[in-house]
Amino acid sequence: MQFYSTRNSNHIVQIDEAILNGIANDGGLYMPSAFTNVYTELKDNDLQSVAENMLTPFIRGYFSAEEIKAIVLESFAFNVPLVQLNEQLYIAELFHGPTLAFKDFGGMFMANVMSQILQRQGRKLTILVATSGDTGGAVANGFFDKENIDVVILYPKGKVSDLQELQLTTFGKNITAIAIDGTFDDCQHLVKTAFADQELKASANLSSANSINIGRLIPQMIYYGYVANKLFKEKDIKPTIVVPSGNFGNISAGLFAKRIGYPIARFIAATNANDVVPEYFNTGKYTSRPSVQTLSNAMDVGAPSNMERINNLFGNDVSKIKDEISAYSVSDEQTKATMKSAYEKYNYIADPHTAVGIHVAEEKANYETTVVMSTAHPAKFKADVEQILGIQLPLPKQLSDILNKPQQLLNMVNSFPVLKDFLLTAQKK
Ligand SMILES: *Cc1c(COP(=O)(O)O)cnc(C)c1O
Repeated sequence: MQFYSTRNSNHIVQIDEAILNGIANDGGLYMPSAFTNVYTELKDNDLQSVAENMLTPFIRGYFSAEEIKAIVLESFAFNVPLVQLNEQLYIAELFHGPTLAFKDFGGMFMANVMSQILQRQGRKLTILVATSGDTGGAVANGFFDKENIDVVILYPKGKVSDLQELQLTTFGKNITAIAIDGTFDDCQHLVKTAFADQELKASANLSSANSINIGRLIPQMIYYGYVANKLFKEKDIKPTIVVPSGNFGNISAGLFAKRIGYPIARFIAATNANDVVPEYFNTGKYTSRPSVQTLSNAMDVGAPSNMERINNLFGNDVSKIKDEISAYSVSDEQTKATMKSAYEKYNYIADPHTAVGIHVAEEKANYETTVVMSTAHPAKFKADVEQILGIQLPLPKQLSDILNKPQQLLNMVNSFPVLKDFLLTAQKK
């Protein structure tokens, strides 16, 4: 399949270039040139079969059928339990991968695909990525120890949880973690500036791994497909899907899944106090602004990059977007209250991001069968969850394993020249 830039539909590339570039030269994001219905061809409903069915049209041609099978097996070796809370409400747990957040789907797939592309081309790359918490861990885990690839992670100092920070800083080897004196938006801005810098682009061989990369986005389709097919086959239901959203990459993948025929009724985006998108849907005006810090820190995004994709997908027509997606903002107070009530009513321990979704599902889904995408394991936010629910939360093995590993990190001021100098110097070594 070919991919075009959201800013110029004549700017066309193949999958290898789309993934290695991350962002198009004109600053646009890559979009698939076609959405073909593949749902009719789906045979089995295990996660791997769904993944093969959904991903093949996007990467076929560059990869053979056998290679696609191998990539799928290697990338998605974990489960997506669908937990039923009441008659209408389900939780799809996307957090059973190595770093306990849904970003493992994108991180694993993209690392495997990218390292194969680079091997074929005999090239080396540096991945530069900004993280609000979970991206960095998933990307580092996926790329750890891969030949030909170095990873530089920028994260906002003091604004990710202690466990998230450990997940970023305990890899070493080809992974460098940098704590930036600023917000996630500052980190994201540094990354964008780096990609726009011609000197850096020429000499540092940079690529991105943020959810703006189409290689992170398309693998996120598979859990939507898996869950939707399961409910459709077993109960003849097309679910409404609630997606806790920050950069709107996750929900974009859901829209793609629907476009290729999977049985989904509609989407609801649940944001925290960073409500740029709910406001856009209400007023038709899109105004990005600095992010504010909340309990659900991985969604503290004031300028959601993937809105450019969603606008493009619907021909920049807000009323068409609103036919398929609605969006609501949830306060920290509501998030805490929902964590408590989910624990009391259903004995379910939700992390703050998932709780934002559950709140919206309970308030806004109108008794439709609703699936909340649970984006992170509660233990990733152990301190908050324990304090809010008054319980002790055991650490899953993925987290207890890293507790005693030494941390390696650099501190850096929020300054592009300083970052540029660092990247150019690292390149010379
Ligand atoms: C990244 C993240 C989100 C937001 O996903 P987007 O694709 O940026 O909308 C939500 N919850 C958790 C736990 C995350 O890590």
